[in-house]
Amino acid sequence: MTKQILILPGDGIGKEVTTSAVEVLDYLKASNDLDFNVLERDVGGTSYDLYGKPLTEETLEIAKNSDAVLFGAVGGPQWEHLGWDLRPEQALLGLRKSLGLFANLRPAFLFNELASASPLKNHIIENLDILIVRELTGGVYFGEPRGLVEDSDPKYAFNTMVYNEDEIRRIAKVAFEAAMSRNKKLCSVEKANVLEVSKFWRGIVTEMGPDYPEVELSHQLADNTAMQLVLNPNQYDVIVSSNLFGDILSDIAATLTGSIGMLPSASLNSSGQGMYEPCHGSAPDIAGQGIANPLAMISSLAMALEYSLGRKDLAVKIESAIKHFIQEGHRTKDISTSSDFIKTSEVAPILINFMKNE
Ligand code: NAD
Repeated sequence: MTKQILILPGDGIGKEVTTSAVEVLDYLKASNDLDFNVLERDVGGTSYDLYGKPLTEETLEIAKNSDAVLFGAVGGPQWEHLGWDLRPEQALLGLRKSLGLFANLRPAFLFNELASASPLKNHIIENLDILIVRELTGGVYFGEPRGLVEDSDPKYAFNTMVYNEDEIRRIAKVAFEAAMSRNKKLCSVEKANVLEVSKFWRGIVTEMGPDYPEVELSHQLADNTAMQLVLNPNQYDVIVSSNLFGDILSDIAATLTGSIGMLPSASLNSSGQGMYEPCHGSAPDIAGQGIANPLAMISSLAMALEYSLGRKDLAVKIESAIKHFIQEGHRTKDISTSSDFIKTSEVAPILINFMKNE
């Protein structure tokens, strides 16, 4: 069946980096005779300016019927005065919720040539290659009841951290399977020493371990993982965690590589449908200057090809072209250590050239 891809460039540098990813996709489509149906729509602030909403019903309907959504970035100061429901970021939350994207995959990968950009010493960070699997639709961010009680003395506020067995099993399954396709190590992270929900989480993940006999399973407390990620990040292969802890740990891991313009992410549902986006935002400070690094977006396309479009071979091709690109010394401004750098629009043609000559 023809696979459908929805492109949502969004705002600011979202548009610029998406243009580069579409150039790579167009090349792959033509050179591999791919039967992909590619559609493009506005989202975020750009959609608000045109249609009065950050995400229209039509765009959401197309997203629901697509195998993969490539999402640039949304937001910018010109939309910050808007009410909560109309803010560009609501488009992201709306898509995540409507598509049931419960599994957030965030690789943190270091090209050794860029190790000097990391805040950590070279010998600690070299060869870093971690995948953080974060639960995205449950836990304390969504748990009920929640609220603020003001007619009490003292006033108080509360949230509920809750996971049911099915929610834990489905995210752990994604993580075990990811570990199987990588270095077969999985670390499950929670706070089983103080939280019932974490103890329950640990029990279920432990129970699933024997289904994946090749995977070396370990458990760690979240505060220790935060510390270990900085002290010795190479001890990890795949980390799985809840929405709250995963949020914090994936940001720490992203910072380790020192270059936010390089990091992709995938958010998947149980039918393999996914939304793919760079970890960075719309970067209003550099938007329109043509200097954004599009590699995070192009790597996100690679993840879409692997996880939702059934073409891991093409994902490998893109990743290998990016590796060549870095090894040959091509640098966008954010990863350049000198005043010499290339523009956003020059990146995709160099990658395509590598792929042609492979
Ligand atoms: P940001 O990620 O947009 O920018 C942080 C810094 O990193 C900036 O200095 C920026 O120039 C730089 N940067 C980011 N991506 C880059 C790239 N590809 N190449 C080179 N440099 C890059 O974060 P922010 O400044 O906190 O947020 C800006 C806007 O983006 C806000 O409106 C925020 O709400 C939104 N945002 C959106 C998303 C999303 O759409 N998923 C995520 C985060 C932030």
